[in-house]
Amino acid sequence: MKQERFDAIVIGGGPAGAAAGAVLASKGRRVVILEREKFPRYHIGESLLPYCYFPLERLGLIEKLKASHFPKKYSVQFVSTEGRLSVPFYFFQHFEHDASMTWQVLRSEFDQMLLDNAREKSAVVLEETTVRELLRTNGAVTGVQAVSTGGSSVQFHAPVTIDATGRDAFAVGRNGWKVRDPYLNKIAVWTYYKGAVRDPGLDEGATTVAFVPEKGWFWYIPLPEDMVSVGVVAEKEYLYRDARELETIFQREVKNNRWIEDHLAPGAQTGQYFVTGEFSYRSRYCAEDGLVLTGDAFSFLDPVFSSGVFLALRGGEMAADAVDEALAAGDVRAERFADYGARLCEGIEAMRKLVYAFYNPRFSFKEFLMEFPQLRGDLTDCLIGNLYRDFEPLFGAMAKFADVPAPLPHGGAQKKEAGNLSGHAAD
Ligand SMILES: Cc1cc2nc3c(=O)[nH]c(=O)nc-3n(C[C@H](O)[C@H](O)[C@H](O)COP(=O)(O)OP(=O)(O)OC[C@H]3O[C@@H](n4cnc5c(N)ncnc54)[C@H](O)[C@@H]3O)c2cc1C
Repeated sequence: MKQERFDAIVIGGGPAGAAAGAVLASKGRRVVILEREKFPRYHIGESLLPYCYFPLERLGLIEKLKASHFPKKYSVQFVSTEGRLSVPFYFFQHFEHDASMTWQVLRSEFDQMLLDNAREKSAVVLEETTVRELLRTNGAVTGVQAVSTGGSSVQFHAPVTIDATGRDAFAVGRNGWKVRDPYLNKIAVWTYYKGAVRDPGLDEGATTVAFVPEKGWFWYIPLPEDMVSVGVVAEKEYLYRDARELETIFQREVKNNRWIEDHLAPGAQTGQYFVTGEFSYRSRYCAEDGLVLTGDAFSFLDPVFSSGVFLALRGGEMAADAVDEALAAGDVRAERFADYGARLCEGIEAMRKLVYAFYNPRFSFKEFLMEFPQLRGDLTDCLIGNLYRDFEPLFGAMAKFADVPAPLPHGGAQKKEAGNLSGHAAD
C-alpha cells in the first residue's frame, strides 16, 4: 500500500480544514488536506459574520472577496410573525472598520477559494480522497487510511492530524464522543428562489430572520445571480405535525409569515428541497494524543446567528497555531491542546447563550436593550463575532430575563491517566 509522510494531516477541505491547512503551510509545515468531494461542491451556510474578516485577512483573501460577485451584507433585520420588519441593524453603526461589511457567499465558490488558497500556500490538497480510518501507534493517532474514488488505498502518516470533517464529525462518530445539546434540537428545511424580492439600497444584501409560530424562524439570504437562499428552522414535531413532504412543509410555513410570502411571490422556486436534523452538539473532547478537532467536526451550534463559518475559520486558524506550537515542542499529546479547547469553547459558549435567549419565549432583545441600553455594544460584539472578550455584564443582565445556560462541562482535551484509559476532560 502507498504510504506518505507529512508534518500534519487535515481531514476535510471546508472552511475549517482549508484555513488550518493554509496557516500550517504558511508556517512552512508539510501539510496534506484530504477532501472527500471534488470541489466546487454544494454546501449550506451562506451568510458570513463581520468578524470573518480577520481570519480571511490572515489568509490573504480580503481583496478576492471584495472583487467577488457575492452580495455585500451590511445588516441583519428581523421580521415579526405578523410580517412587520424591524429597523435593520447596520454593523457600521457599531464599529468603523472594513470588517463592518461582510458577504453572503455561494459556498461552492467560497470554499473553492479557500481550498485554492491553501494550495497556493503549498498545502498538498487531495480531493476525492475519503478518510476511512485513524491509524494509531501506542494509543496515539499517527496517521490515517484513505481511499481515492478510483478505489486505491493510501496511508498518510504525520505526528498530528486535524479532523475538520464538518457535521460528518469523523472522530466524534468513531470515538463515540457526540454529546447533543440538551435543549437546542431544531431541524431545518430549505430551498432556493430565483427572482424573489431584494430590498433596496444598503439592505439588498441583508440577512433577514423572519419569525414563524413556536419560536421557529426563516432565513432569507440574497445570493449572486438573483438567487435567494430561504429556509425554515423549528422543532421537528412542529414542522412535521401534519405533513412529511418537504415541499408541503416549506410552503405551509411560507404562509405563516407575510413578509416571506410577499418576498417570494414574484420568484420561482428552483432545485430541490433540503432537510437537516440533529442540530446542536459538541464533542466530549477537542483532542486526543495526535488528533485535534475543529469546526463542525468539534461542535455545531444552531445557525440562527450565522456563526458556523466564523467558528470554522477561527477554529481552523487556532487549531493550526496550536498544532504548529505542539510540533515545535515535539509534544502532540492531548494535554497540549487543553488551552485550544478552552478558548474554542469560550467563543462557542458566548454564542450559545445568545441562541438560548433567542429561543426563550420570555426573552425579547428589544425589551432587553430598553432596560439595558448601555449593553448594546456588548450584545453587538457577540452578534458580529467578537467573541473572545468578557461578556459577564451582558449575560449577567440577560439572566434577569431568561435562563442563561451554564457552560457545557465537556469539550476539553482528553487526558489519559493510569487505570483510566477512557480519559476525562483536562480542563
Ligand atoms: C441549515 C444550516 C444553515 C446554516 N447557515 C449558516 C449561515 O448562514 N452562516 C454560517 O456561518 N454558517 C451556517 N451554517 C453552518 C455552516 O454550514 C458550518 O458551520 C460550516 O460549513 C462548518 O465548516 P467546516 O469546515 O467545519 O465543515 P464543512 O464545511 O462541512 O466541511 C467539511 C468537509 O469535510 C469533508 N469530509 C467529511 N468527511 C470526510 C472524510 N471522511 N474524508 C475526507 N473529507 C471528508 C466534506 O466533504 C466537507 O467538504 C449552517 C448550517 C446548517 C446545517
